[in-house]
Amino acid sequence: MHELMTLKQPPTIDPAELVARKDTIVRAVRDILTSVGEDPDRDGLQRTPERISRMYDEILAGYKVDPISLINEAMFDVDYDEMVVVKDIEFFSMCEHHMLPFYGRAHVAYIPTNKVIGLSKIPRIVEMFARRLQVQERMTMQIANILDEVLHPLGVAVVVEAAHLCSMMRGIKKEHARMVTSSMLGCFKDNEKTRNELLHHISSRGETT
Ligand SMILES: [Zn+2]
Repeated sequence: MHELMTLKQPPTIDPAELVARKDTIVRAVRDILTSVGEDPDRDGLQRTPERISRMYDEILAGYKVDPISLINEAMFDVDYDEMVVVKDIEFFSMCEHHMLPFYGRAHVAYIPTNKVIGLSKIPRIVEMFARRLQVQERMTMQIANILDEVLHPLGVAVVVEAAHLCSMMRGIKKEHARMVTSSMLGCFKDNEKTRNELLHHISSRGETT
Protein backbone atom coordinates (compact mmCIF):
# COMPACT_ATOMS: atom_id res chain seq x y z
CA MET A 1 0.00 0.00 0.00
CA HIS A 2 2.05 2.82 -1.32
CA GLU A 3 0.58 6.24 -2.02
CA LEU A 4 2.55 8.24 -4.53
CA MET A 5 -0.19 10.79 -3.96
CA THR A 6 1.86 12.35 -1.21
CA LEU A 7 4.09 14.06 -3.76
CA LYS A 8 1.33 15.74 -5.71
CA GLN A 9 1.74 19.48 -6.08
CA PRO A 10 -0.84 21.53 -4.22
CA PRO A 11 -3.02 23.57 -6.59
CA THR A 12 -2.08 27.22 -7.02
CA ILE A 13 -4.85 29.42 -5.72
CA ASP A 14 -5.26 32.97 -6.99
CA PRO A 15 -5.62 35.74 -4.36
CA ALA A 16 -9.22 36.61 -5.33
CA GLU A 17 -10.20 32.99 -4.76
CA LEU A 18 -8.55 33.12 -1.32
CA VAL A 19 -10.59 36.19 -0.34
CA ALA A 20 -13.77 34.45 -1.50
CA ARG A 21 -12.92 31.39 0.59
CA LYS A 22 -12.38 33.56 3.67
CA ASP A 23 -15.79 35.15 3.19
CA THR A 24 -17.39 31.74 2.85
CA ILE A 25 -15.88 30.60 6.15
CA VAL A 26 -16.99 33.83 7.87
CA ARG A 27 -20.58 33.32 6.65
CA ALA A 28 -20.56 29.63 7.58
CA VAL A 29 -19.33 30.27 11.12
CA ARG A 30 -21.99 32.95 11.55
CA ASP A 31 -24.59 30.38 10.52
CA ILE A 32 -23.24 27.86 13.02
CA LEU A 33 -23.37 30.46 15.81
CA THR A 34 -26.99 31.25 15.02
CA SER A 35 -27.85 27.57 14.74
CA VAL A 36 -26.52 26.68 18.18
CA GLY A 37 -28.68 29.43 19.67
CA GLU A 38 -26.17 32.26 19.89
CA ASP A 39 -26.43 35.85 18.83
CA PRO A 40 -23.53 36.33 16.40
CA ASP A 41 -23.80 40.10 16.81
CA ARG A 42 -23.23 40.22 20.55
CA ASP A 43 -19.96 41.79 21.73
CA GLY A 44 -17.83 38.71 22.31
CA LEU A 45 -18.88 36.99 19.10
CA GLN A 46 -18.85 39.82 16.58
CA ARG A 47 -15.36 39.11 15.32
CA THR A 48 -15.35 35.36 15.99
CA PRO A 49 -16.14 34.28 12.40
CA GLU A 50 -13.29 36.46 11.12
CA ARG A 51 -10.93 35.07 13.81
CA ILE A 52 -11.81 31.48 12.96
CA SER A 53 -11.29 32.15 9.28
CA ARG A 54 -7.80 33.51 9.98
CA MET A 55 -7.07 30.64 12.38
CA TYR A 56 -7.94 28.03 9.74
CA ASP A 57 -5.45 29.73 7.48
CA GLU A 58 -2.80 28.85 10.04
CA ILE A 59 -3.84 25.49 11.46
CA LEU A 60 -4.80 24.10 8.05
CA ALA A 61 -1.82 25.60 6.25
CA GLY A 62 -0.51 22.16 5.27
CA TYR A 63 -2.64 22.17 2.10
CA LYS A 64 -0.58 25.08 0.77
CA VAL A 65 2.88 23.61 1.32
CA ASP A 66 4.63 22.20 -1.70
CA PRO A 67 6.25 18.99 -0.41
CA ILE A 68 8.63 18.72 -3.33
CA SER A 69 10.36 22.04 -2.79
CA LEU A 70 10.23 21.51 0.96
CA ILE A 71 12.22 18.31 0.63
CA ASN A 72 14.32 18.73 -2.49
CA GLU A 73 16.38 21.63 -1.23
CA ALA A 74 17.32 19.71 1.92
CA MET A 75 18.60 16.38 0.62
CA PHE A 76 22.24 15.53 0.41
CA ASP A 77 24.48 12.56 -0.26
CA VAL A 78 26.25 11.07 2.71
CA ASP A 79 28.12 7.89 3.44
CA TYR A 80 26.09 6.90 6.46
CA ASP A 81 24.04 3.78 6.97
CA GLU A 82 23.11 3.82 10.65
CA MET A 83 19.70 4.58 12.05
CA VAL A 84 18.68 8.26 12.13
CA VAL A 85 16.06 8.99 14.79
CA VAL A 86 14.22 12.26 15.33
CA LYS A 87 11.93 11.83 18.28
CA ASP A 88 9.41 13.85 20.30
CA ILE A 89 8.33 16.07 17.40
CA GLU A 90 5.35 17.96 18.82
CA PHE A 91 2.43 18.43 16.49
CA PHE A 92 -1.15 19.70 16.48
CA SER A 93 -3.67 18.41 14.00
CA MET A 94 -7.44 18.43 13.43
CA CYS A 95 -9.52 15.27 13.34
CA GLU A 96 -11.48 15.17 10.10
CA HIS A 97 -14.49 13.52 11.69
CA HIS A 98 -15.20 16.21 14.27
CA MET A 99 -12.89 19.08 13.35
CA LEU A 100 -11.48 19.01 16.86
CA PRO A 101 -7.77 18.93 17.66
CA PHE A 102 -5.65 15.91 18.24
CA TYR A 103 -2.11 16.54 19.34
CA GLY A 104 0.96 14.76 20.59
CA ARG A 105 4.35 13.62 19.45
CA ALA A 106 5.74 11.95 16.38
CA HIS A 107 8.91 9.88 16.26
CA VAL A 108 10.55 9.39 12.89
CA ALA A 109 13.41 7.05 12.01
CA TYR A 110 15.09 5.88 8.86
CA ILE A 111 18.18 4.02 7.77
CA PRO A 112 19.72 5.81 4.76
CA THR A 113 21.29 4.15 1.80
CA ASN A 114 23.21 7.19 0.58
CA LYS A 115 20.74 10.06 0.78
CA VAL A 116 19.85 11.91 3.97
CA ILE A 117 17.54 14.83 4.63
CA GLY A 118 18.38 17.86 6.78
CA LEU A 119 17.22 17.12 10.33
CA SER A 120 15.18 20.31 10.60
CA LYS A 121 13.08 19.21 7.62
CA ILE A 122 11.60 16.19 9.35
CA PRO A 123 9.56 18.29 11.83
CA ARG A 124 8.48 20.44 8.84
CA ILE A 125 7.22 17.33 7.05
CA VAL A 126 5.30 16.26 10.16
CA GLU A 127 3.81 19.75 10.39
CA MET A 128 2.84 19.80 6.72
CA PHE A 129 0.72 16.67 7.17
CA ALA A 130 -0.55 17.64 10.65
CA ARG A 131 -1.93 20.98 9.52
CA ARG A 132 -4.76 19.45 7.55
CA LEU A 133 -7.96 17.65 8.39
CA GLN A 134 -6.59 14.27 9.29
CA VAL A 135 -7.00 10.86 10.80
CA GLN A 136 -3.99 9.83 12.83
CA GLU A 137 -3.49 6.55 10.95
CA ARG A 138 -3.28 8.28 7.57
CA MET A 139 -1.00 11.03 8.83
CA THR A 140 1.38 8.39 10.18
CA MET A 141 1.49 6.61 6.81
CA GLN A 142 1.88 9.80 4.79
CA ILE A 143 4.96 10.82 6.77
CA ALA A 144 6.51 7.38 6.30
CA ASN A 145 5.61 7.16 2.61
CA ILE A 146 7.00 10.53 1.60
CA LEU A 147 10.35 9.78 3.26
CA ASP A 148 10.39 6.39 1.59
CA GLU A 149 9.68 7.94 -1.81
CA VAL A 150 12.30 10.65 -1.69
CA LEU A 151 15.14 9.00 0.24
CA HIS A 152 14.80 5.38 -0.88
CA PRO A 153 16.17 4.29 2.50
CA LEU A 154 16.62 0.75 3.79
CA GLY A 155 13.67 1.41 6.01
CA VAL A 156 11.44 4.09 7.54
CA ALA A 157 9.50 4.02 10.79
CA VAL A 158 7.01 6.54 12.10
CA VAL A 159 5.36 6.26 15.52
CA VAL A 160 2.72 8.80 16.53
CA GLU A 161 1.22 9.19 20.01
CA ALA A 162 -1.71 11.59 20.30
CA ALA A 163 -4.58 12.71 22.49
CA HIS A 164 -7.91 13.27 20.74
CA LEU A 165 -10.19 16.00 22.05
CA CYS A 166 -13.18 14.51 20.21
CA SER A 167 -12.93 11.45 22.48
CA MET A 168 -11.90 13.32 25.61
CA MET A 169 -14.52 16.09 25.47
CA ARG A 170 -17.44 13.90 24.53
CA GLY A 171 -16.95 11.44 27.38
CA ILE A 172 -17.13 8.40 25.16
CA LYS A 173 -14.45 5.95 24.13
CA LYS A 174 -12.18 7.37 26.84
CA GLU A 175 -9.89 4.40 26.36
CA HIS A 176 -9.11 5.71 22.88
CA ALA A 177 -8.40 9.22 24.07
CA ARG A 178 -4.71 8.52 23.71
CA MET A 179 -3.80 6.61 20.60
CA VAL A 180 -0.54 5.21 19.27
CA THR A 181 -0.12 4.47 15.58
CA SER A 182 2.89 3.29 13.64
CA SER A 183 4.01 2.75 10.09
CA MET A 184 7.00 0.49 9.49
CA LEU A 185 8.54 0.13 6.04
CA GLY A 186 11.50 -1.84 4.71
CA CYS A 187 13.88 -3.19 7.31
CA PHE A 188 11.77 -1.84 10.18
CA LYS A 189 8.99 -4.09 8.99
CA ASP A 190 11.14 -7.10 8.14
CA ASN A 191 13.71 -7.08 10.90
CA GLU A 192 12.65 -7.43 14.51
CA LYS A 193 16.06 -6.40 15.83
CA THR A 194 15.94 -3.10 13.93
CA ARG A 195 12.41 -2.46 15.15
CA ASN A 196 13.40 -3.16 18.75
CA GLU A 197 16.37 -0.83 18.46
CA LEU A 198 14.01 1.93 17.37
CA LEU A 199 11.54 1.26 20.18
CA HIS A 200 14.44 1.38 22.62
CA HIS A 201 15.47 4.79 21.19
CA ILE A 202 11.95 6.13 21.52
CA SER A 203 11.44 4.96 25.08
CA SER A 204 14.77 6.26 26.35
CA ARG A 205 13.68 9.72 27.42
CA GLY A 206 16.15 12.56 27.29
CA GLU A 207 18.81 10.67 25.41
CA THR A 208 19.71 12.12 22.03
CA THR A 209 20.55 10.13 18.97
ZN1 LIG B 1 -12.73 12.89 15.93
